[in-house]
Amino acid sequence: MSRAEIDRVLREKRTWIVEQRRRQVPRLGLERMAVSESEARIGARELVSALAEEEAARLRVRYRRIRIGDQRTLWGSCSSSGTLSFNWRLVLAPLGVLDYVVVHELCHLRVPNHSQSFWTCVEQRRPRWRDQRDWLREHGPELLAFRPAD
Ligand SMILES: [Zn+2]
Repeated sequence: MSRAEIDRVLREKRTWIVEQRRRQVPRLGLERMAVSESEARIGARELVSALAEEEAARLRVRYRRIRIGDQRTLWGSCSSSGTLSFNWRLVLAPLGVLDYVVVHELCHLRVPNHSQSFWTCVEQRRPRWRDQRDWLREHGPELLAFRPAD
């Protein structure tokens, strides 16, 4: 995804993103009462769908559908039937992190394992993927532990 495309998605979702950011408090800003799961899920679906649609075309892969889930340990997964599943808590992470997870799962449509050719696919589309992975390693447990009010 080019810088211009990322900017465009950010622009389209700006109000929502700004609102989420504004609500954030120290550390990652996961204030218990601030974000409802239902609105976070809607935001997650919008962002994931927009990114997946563009990136699938670039990678020339097809997915069947996108599922937004409440996985306790996973950020994303890709089934053999072509369903991509994403953890709604990704929407609480920086957009680049969510974007990386989307690209990661789309690359699994090409290479279903974590072999060298899989990482080559990720690297070609997101040369800085390691930064995003490291962010998830550092902050992921806090995101996964987050329980919204509703
Ligand atoms: Zn993977």
